[in-house]
Amino acid sequence: MSRANSVFEQQLGLRLQVSRANSVFEQQLGLRLQVSTLVLNEGEGGDYRSTGPNFAPATPGERSCTGYQAQGVTGHGANVTVSGIDVALGMLARWASTNHPDDDLWHLLTDCFPSPGTVGIASKGGLCQAPGQRTSFVATTIDPDPSDNLTLVQRLDACDRQGYEGVVEGTRLCARALYSGAACGADSHPGGGNTTPGKLELCSANAGVSSNGPSLWHTFAHEIAHGLGGGHTFGDGGLLDYTGERALYDAADICAYLEAGGQGCLEEVAEAVTAATCGNGAHESPEACDDGGLAPGDGCDASCAVEPSLQP
Ligand SMILES: [Zn+2]
Repeated sequence: MSRANSVFEQQLGLRLQVSRANSVFEQQLGLRLQVSTLVLNEGEGGDYRSTGPNFAPATPGERSCTGYQAQGVTGHGANVTVSGIDVALGMLARWASTNHPDDDLWHLLTDCFPSPGTVGIASKGGLCQAPGQRTSFVATTIDPDPSDNLTLVQRLDACDRQGYEGVVEGTRLCARALYSGAACGADSHPGGGNTTPGKLELCSANAGVSSNGPSLWHTFAHEIAHGLGGGHTFGDGGLLDYTGERALYDAADICAYLEAGGQGCLEEVAEAVTAATCGNGAHESPEACDDGGLAPGDGCDASCAVEPSLQP
């Protein structure tokens, strides 16, 4: 998020993204995300154990982030260059597994990685995996179209159909996660940056990354849906396509995931009376009104009380 935003604005913005995603998940899956820990980085130089790999753009107001350099990765039969957003995902997953091994999911919202490149990434089915089941993300040598006639979306679709989770940016190769059977290993980034190119073993479980932008909630919800095991639904539309729709079409993956118990981490929560969130556009008790904003002077004020009269 922009450094110009106050902490309050950032918290409010985050709640809005999560509640928009929840409006889809609650209605269509009966599932609600709850934020338990929020880390806001106002600048670099904090303690890496506390802040995690949350790097700001090198120049305020711009989107270029030197903290996430593309890196060469070897091992697991792969020898490829991994894009910056994959590096961010791997660093977040490794940090989370080291410092928060009992948490179900960490997601990075960042000003880095703006459109038109990859704006979000998550490991398929990574949500709620126990530490002993976490995966290492490795590229494969599968090229679904050696003649290189596929668009990126077609290539993603082809990889997805063959059981792979994505495409390694800058290459024509499909990528997939392999079970490593262990946690992601020691944190090799104590100084806040990766100083050992070629040594980064990407561990993509229980983490996701979304880039800030006009459709941030959609990117976030798309990546969470991947975390629930959902594959792309290219051609069918919906959240797991790139169309911007609110619908969550399920290619049977998510329902299978939920029916299997959500890998054991999804909790049954009694329907509780939840606090109303003023400004979310939903008229919740005890709000007198909710116009979807907090601006005064429009008939519904910042505490969701009706304003007595409008300016003539
Ligand atoms: Zn996707």
